Amino acid sequence: MNEFELIRQFFQREQAENPHAGVVLGIGDDCALLQPLPDKHLAVSVDTLVADVHFPANADPEQIAERALRVNLSDLAAMGADPLWFTLALTLPDTDEHWLRHFSRGLFRVAREFNCALVGGDTTAGPLSITLQVMGTVTPHLALRRDGASPGDYVLVTHCLGDGAAALAVIQERLQLGAEHEAYLHDRFYRPQPRLQEAALLRGLASAALDISDGLVSDLGHICAASDLAAIIDVESLPLSLAMQAMGDINQARHWALTGGDDYELCFTVAPEKMPDVAMLIAEGKLNASVVGELVPGRGVTCELQGEIFELTRQGYQHFSHE
Ligand code: ADP
Ligand code: MG
Repeated sequence: MNEFELIRQFFQREQAENPHAGVVLGIGDDCALLQPLPDKHLAVSVDTLVADVHFPANADPEQIAERALRVNLSDLAAMGADPLWFTLALTLPDTDEHWLRHFSRGLFRVAREFNCALVGGDTTAGPLSITLQVMGTVTPHLALRRDGASPGDYVLVTHCLGDGAAALAVIQERLQLGAEHEAYLHDRFYRPQPRLQEAALLRGLASAALDISDGLVSDLGHICAASDLAAIIDVESLPLSLAMQAMGDINQARHWALTGGDDYELCFTVAPEKMPDVAMLIAEGKLNASVVGELVPGRGVTCELQGEIFELTRQGYQHFSHE
């Protein structure tokens, strides 16, 4: 199978079945031609996953694809953008048709779910690596940037934290829980939910936002740095899933919630005058989020438990850092 047969068979097939607003010309020419709505900003984000760095080389290709696209879409959510298109640069050690069939199945399942069309890419031979670039649009001034927060703003997170780290512990057999909890964590890890609906509600309400990929402390630190502020996290108010609570080690659960990676929840800030609107969305069950802290003048992120400093043993995962 040559490169062009491969593209046609595994990546072009759904293009015609799933025409998408704004795709003037999709896969097959030198470039895709895309037409975003007038008066919108284009939001673009790219991520690379390398075998044996970001996932085991022998991992289920359907899960790899599904997770990769979901994680990318989470970046659009974090910006308050609506997904439209994506491209795929694939480096493959060989043309394993079984692998490609499952990869493309997982990929298009997520693409359909979130109405995001594959419009191009590149295919090369080499060590397995997957680069996805997602594109979406956002109304100017409503983008959820990192640099918009002010002193006195509340810090909130969607859903619950620490599940990514707990899931990894279960997958690596460092943690054992009941079957129901393990199934929940497995799903949280392999099928992270891009919080696009939450992000849509937060446009115009949140002063800053990002998605939590490296742990709350580390990622909230980015909002603090961009907005030139400090944050205080109230450790007691961290939202923990039933699975995390079932672990029976609240200290471990809190550490994972603060520093564990792979949660892909949104962390966002809300000015006090906008807080009643956000509280209303939460009370009405439209937004699953909780207040976990506040922003103050200064630098850095501090964690407090009942008025005392809560010391952390680890600040979240960083590439190229030698711990
Ligand atoms: P070029 O030589 O112009 O780079 P290619 O021969 O690499 O074009 O690709 C042919 C067409 O197939 C292009 O439209 C490209 O965007 C698309 N394409 C290549 N690889 C992929 C892929 N893995 N997924 C989706 N589209 C792809
Ligand atoms: Mg090419």
